Amino acid sequence: MRQIVGEDNVLIDEPMSEHTTFEIGGPADLLVVPESTEEVRDVIEACRASGLPYFVLGNGSDLLVSDEGYRGVIVALADGFTNVSIDGDEMTCQAGVSLREASEMACELGLSGLEFACGIPGTIGGACFMNAGAYDGCMAGVLKSVRVIMPDGSLETIGVDDLALGYRASRIRDEGLVVLTATFRLRKGDPEAIRARMDDLTHKRESKQPLDKPSAGSTFKRPEGYFAGKLIMDAGLQGYQVGGAAVSKKHAGFVVNLGGATAADVHAVIEHVQDEVERQFGVRLEPEVRFLG
Ligand SMILES: Cc1cc2nc3c(=O)[nH]c(=O)nc-3n(C[C@H](O)[C@H](O)[C@H](O)COP(=O)(O)OP(=O)(O)OC[C@H]3O[C@@H](n4cnc5c(N)ncnc54)[C@H](O)[C@@H]3O)c2cc1C
Repeated sequence: MRQIVGEDNVLIDEPMSEHTTFEIGGPADLLVVPESTEEVRDVIEACRASGLPYFVLGNGSDLLVSDEGYRGVIVALADGFTNVSIDGDEMTCQAGVSLREASEMACELGLSGLEFACGIPGTIGGACFMNAGAYDGCMAGVLKSVRVIMPDGSLETIGVDDLALGYRASRIRDEGLVVLTATFRLRKGDPEAIRARMDDLTHKRESKQPLDKPSAGSTFKRPEGYFAGKLIMDAGLQGYQVGGAAVSKKHAGFVVNLGGATAADVHAVIEHVQDEVERQFGVRLEPEVRFLG
């Protein structure tokens, strides 16, 4: 790994609590930080060739890593894989670019389409994987194509119509594709109007979500015909706490880390919420947060 990404970009026994927005998670055996397409590809190939498990990490904003950590290689893209290029109304971002940065840049250039993403604390790669969305926008609505590493190691460009993007679903997720870059098809717009929309969405988010506490955003997917947060609130679970983890009092859809929470605490809260909501309303909530380790 050191030969591929250089000595400084390989970390041993790296605490995952420092790479997740939940601020939870034990050590990963190795965490490597590639800085180019070739390095990402070579790291993945080296893992595959030596049979080492690997996991591609964006900003860790949708992730609960176990207290025991991860036995394998974390391929971390948020720090070194962050180039952006513009061609007319199209913007191409490497997978580690943050949605916040991409939407800011689009705004400055007078390109509309990414406003919905300004408050989602993930990377482009993680957002494509999840088909991240908010306030009536989602990746499927603005993506043109992605450049990916296929399961056989080959590189391919896949158009948005062939990505099977659905509610928090994608081919990237189903087939284990690794996103290298994403190209967005945006529209010319008035920078002031774009900024005003972003400010409005940021204000909405700040007033409703517990952004002052570490979390991984909405803990559960929206069940068909219901809202997870409302079911949890109606079940009387707001504030329910195990150790340092609790259902947020500000937004019942979020499990938050009140300080010193372990992954076991969060799992215990999630399981209790699932059981209690099912007992009271007959709906089994499915986690949106991904579990690792
Ligand atoms: C406060 C807060 C608010 C949030 N609000 C929203 C919201 O409004 N809407 C929403 O959709 N989500 C929201 N989220 C959840 C999260 O930010 C998104 O799901 C985001 O897209 C995850 O991106 P990430 O880079 O952090 O991915 P990570 O958490 O690092 O990874 C998530 C998954 O994506 C995979 N992945 C990451 N990069 C790649 C890549 N390059 N190629 C292939 N797979 C990859 C990982 O392997 C993992 O399985 C919120 C989270 C927080 C903490």
